[in-house]
Amino acid sequence: MQSDTCPACDHEVTAVNNFCGNCGLLLSSSDARIAARLNESVEASVAREIEKRYGEREVVELTIAANVADRMLKWAKVYGAVVAFLIALAAAALTLLGYQSYSDLQKKIKIATNEVEPILRAARGKAAEIAEASDSLRNEQYR
Ligand SMILES: [Zn+2]
Repeated sequence: MQSDTCPACDHEVTAVNNFCGNCGLLLSSSDARIAARLNESVEASVAREIEKRYGEREVVELTIAANVADRMLKWAKVYGAVVAFLIALAAAALTLLGYQSYSDLQKKIKIATNEVEPILRAARGKAAEIAEASDSLRNEQYR
């Protein structure tokens, strides 16, 4: 145990004494010691509280999950607005192009297919004719 002497009467006092046992003087170092002890206890309780809060991983993970969910919800709201805007833009574009609805667009596709099909059939027929002609030409060569 650390010991000291009283500045007033030189009586020996220990470090834990706040007052001199002889003259009753409030030892000047006692305030500093009290403050130091208070600081230590505050620091210790803060450290304990931090350990209690951040030592529980579940609480931390739950907090993170809640934050992520919250953020995703915000993103979904923004993203949903963007998608709705794009759909509206596509509808506006189709209207401007003369396609008032999706079924109208399908009708036009069907008409286009009907127009293309005979041309395709004719082309296939021509290809078959050419293939036949080249076959007969080859047969004449090897005769
Ligand atoms: Zn004293």
